[in-house]
Amino acid sequence: MSKPDPQQVPFPESPVMPEMLRGSHTIQFRCHRGIGCWNACCSNIDISLTPVDIVRLKHRLDITSTEFLDRYTVPYEMEKDGIAGVKLRPVEGGTACRFMTAEGCSVYEDRPTACRYYPVALLSMRRQDEYVDRDSYALVKEAHCLGHQEPRTLSIDEYRAEQGLKEYDELARGWRQLILKKKSSGPTIGKPSKRSLQLFFLACYDIDRFREFVASDGFSQLFDIPAQEMHDILLDDDTLMQFGFRFLRQTLFGEMTIPMHTDAADRRAGRLKEKAARLEREAAERAARDEGLMDSGWDG
Ligand code: SF4
Ligand code: SF4
Repeated sequence: MSKPDPQQVPFPESPVMPEMLRGSHTIQFRCHRGIGCWNACCSNIDISLTPVDIVRLKHRLDITSTEFLDRYTVPYEMEKDGIAGVKLRPVEGGTACRFMTAEGCSVYEDRPTACRYYPVALLSMRRQDEYVDRDSYALVKEAHCLGHQEPRTLSIDEYRAEQGLKEYDELARGWRQLILKKKSSGPTIGKPSKRSLQLFFLACYDIDRFREFVASDGFSQLFDIPAQEMHDILLDDDTLMQFGFRFLRQTLFGEMTIPMHTDAADRRAGRLKEKAARLEREAAERAARDEGLMDSGWDG
């Protein structure tokens, strides 16, 4: 199944039905072993992962997030010059999921959000004047999926509860909000620096390396976090993940919720001021040079 990118609004000729649905909408669907199309969906994958998916799967496989990213994923650009996403990497030279077996999904209890949602797609949206995102859904109808012909009806909210999605969505909400905020702020935030893109990747996807970063001396010299709070943050992946989203809101959008040491904050402000002055000086020098060239007849 090519599971639709939950960040994309449906478009014509897509198997995503062009109708935005509320959670109370009733769908007809059932997937079970023994159905004629068993595993058809997992044979041709296009699955974006959320930070929660990565944490659950790396625990399941008992490896670090760095190893998981390396072995099981490929990065992609969610939007031009924008932030990165991560997709499941299919089997070597094929399109099937590496976790697919004849019996079904070998990581079923920890399967990714997109697999849980299918055949529903989550569409997160945020109006520019709102901080809170709203969830709407779309239905995906692919010809090969016979689950739509099964005689079972339930609401999307019931389906989400059945698939364990409430917890997954709640934990990944901060990540979705960062993406929506970046998309809706557009040119006012501008092209993120290479450093902030690296920090986004680290905090959202490579949680074990992010933990090392937060535990480093450099981090505690900059941020003023009480010892007990730091202990709790480092102890648990979900807590660390939520801290990561907060850290990125501060780094990318200047929402200052993590206290900084005064001297470090002053030093940082000084560095930013110096940088702004340097850029201004360089622009003035460039303008003066261009003017000089024009005066000496170099304007063609
Ligand atoms: S993770 Fe499991 S459910 Fe998802 S595509 Fe792979 S095998 Fe299918
Ligand atoms: S019913 Fe749909 S989701 Fe279930 S195995 Fe068939 S194609 Fe996949």
